[in-house]
Amino acid sequence: FRNSDPTTVVVIGLGRFGSAVAESLVQMGHEVLAVDENPALVERWADDLTHVVQADSTDDQALRQLGVADFDRAVVAIGDDIEASVLTVLALAEAGVKDIWAKAITRKHGKILQRVGATHVVYPEFSMGERVAHMLTGRMEDYI
Ligand code: ATP
Repeated sequence: FRNSDPTTVVVIGLGRFGSAVAESLVQMGHEVLAVDENPALVERWADDLTHVVQADSTDDQALRQLGVADFDRAVVAIGDDIEASVLTVLALAEAGVKDIWAKAITRKHGKILQRVGATHVVYPEFSMGERVAHMLTGRMEDYI
């Protein structure tokens, strides 16, 4: 399925969650700029995503140089390092990105992300746990 209205998305963090988001977007025909500080991950994803860059996303100058303000949306897929997650959302918001989706590990983490400029906060493990509970009791129609 290719979307007829392609969008441009910055994806920060190429862990399991971020790389799945980025790869799915590319498969749907969207343009993705992926950023990760880990050179091995940058190399791993270089051929599969539109642009893959090694950078520290908490560095607001570096983000601006990458032209993040020209992108429609951003996804911050950093979980474990809460400080990096918060600073990245803040830097994206300050650079002028209007639609920022961020992954949170806990409710408190999510609350901070909202305060610093995330427009959508997602809790992938919590949401998937809820979904599995509904799926295994046969209430699939709620989720498809
Ligand atoms: P998952 O469960 O999706 O694998 P995770 O919650 O364990 O991910 P992390 O390992 O915290 O997530 O981070 C995901 C990615 O974000 C990692 O590949 C890491 O290199 C990258 N990352 C973390 N901090 C920064 C940063 N400051 N700049 C750029 N990339 C970063």
